[in-house]
Amino acid sequence: MDRNEILHWLKEEDAERLEALWARADRARRENVGDAVHLRGLVEISNYCVRSCAYCGLRVGNSGVERYRMSMEEVLECARTAERFGYGTLVVQSGEDPGIGADWVSDLVRRVKTETPLAVTLSLGERGDEELAAWRKAGADRYLLRFETSNPNLYESIHPSLPGRRSDRIALLRRIRDLGYEVGSGAMIGIPGQTYEDLADDIEMFRDLDLDMIGVGPFIPHPGTPLGLAAADGAGCEADQVPNSELMTYKVVALTRIVCPLTNIPSTTALATLNLAEGRELGLSRGANVVMPNLTPVEYRSLYEIYPAKACLFETGEECHACLSRRIASIGRTPGQGPGGSLNIQLRRDRGEVSRPKDERSSEAG
Ligand code: SAH
Repeated sequence: MDRNEILHWLKEEDAERLEALWARADRARRENVGDAVHLRGLVEISNYCVRSCAYCGLRVGNSGVERYRMSMEEVLECARTAERFGYGTLVVQSGEDPGIGADWVSDLVRRVKTETPLAVTLSLGERGDEELAAWRKAGADRYLLRFETSNPNLYESIHPSLPGRRSDRIALLRRIRDLGYEVGSGAMIGIPGQTYEDLADDIEMFRDLDLDMIGVGPFIPHPGTPLGLAAADGAGCEADQVPNSELMTYKVVALTRIVCPLTNIPSTTALATLNLAEGRELGLSRGANVVMPNLTPVEYRSLYEIYPAKACLFETGEECHACLSRRIASIGRTPGQGPGGSLNIQLRRDRGEVSRPKDERSSEAG
């Protein structure tokens, strides 16, 4: 699919014509990654953050947040729950928190990999090359870092660099790939100032980066952030502004599946937040093949407020698990077995393009 066609679909509003896009994406999903819906148990281990992202409620300047950091034992308990529920992967996410030390993460990864069959995905923000290499060596399988928008000026304005350390997530993603991780990225949809051209660029960037996982979700304004306040003031109403709508999100999910057929694509919580009744199912029917049930202990759950009114805020892990299992069955799909690793990286390994640390305990064994 070329750029003109991507742009055309992004601007298509006719419900009947869009049916053709949904059908094409669903077929591409079925033919390339099958009917399995992989379950990744998400643990939000800390809401401390040193960054000042204009979109995110965890930004350091938001003094309205009570901060927490989970203990090793608490995270391991979540890992055991993930295993008990039959999930293939533990996703460990946090704000960018230097209080989460490199050695602590290495220990955590080693323990999860020794004590459970789970694949481990890390999503801890922009960390140093040495730390990333150490965690890979400890057995971490995947790393998630959204580039948020491929427009460098827009990115700079919503994701300020730290002093003396220019934020370049695209370059960092390439280094993460070179370390042998499966690499996940993604973007927000409907950021104030984001145009259709920008969004087409994002989808082309997904293809260029040859990503293993791609997560997209609508931008949801948070009142404790500059972008949230600007949105309330009517920012982002220009003619070429992409809406942060449910429909636009489905279009991007569908186009991403068509452009990157082998990649793993989650039906995100942000989508469920816009449409609790059926957002997850519609995402799964229009290209997605992954869901991420939340395992964060309920006492911390509401404190991880990247955006407000997040779906399923007060559900326990058990409830979240039961609900998602029911939703997957209701659309005739099956829960994935095993780690549900990347088919993309498999191709790259066969071509000899992927380096492996010598002592890697690979997830294919699990
Ligand atoms: N600190 C990590 C994890 C951030 S939270 C990192 O920076 O990678 C994960 C994702 O939530 C972000 O990458 C961003 O795309 C999304 N997010 C943050 N604030 C949001 C908002 N207001 N609306 C929608 N998505 C948001």
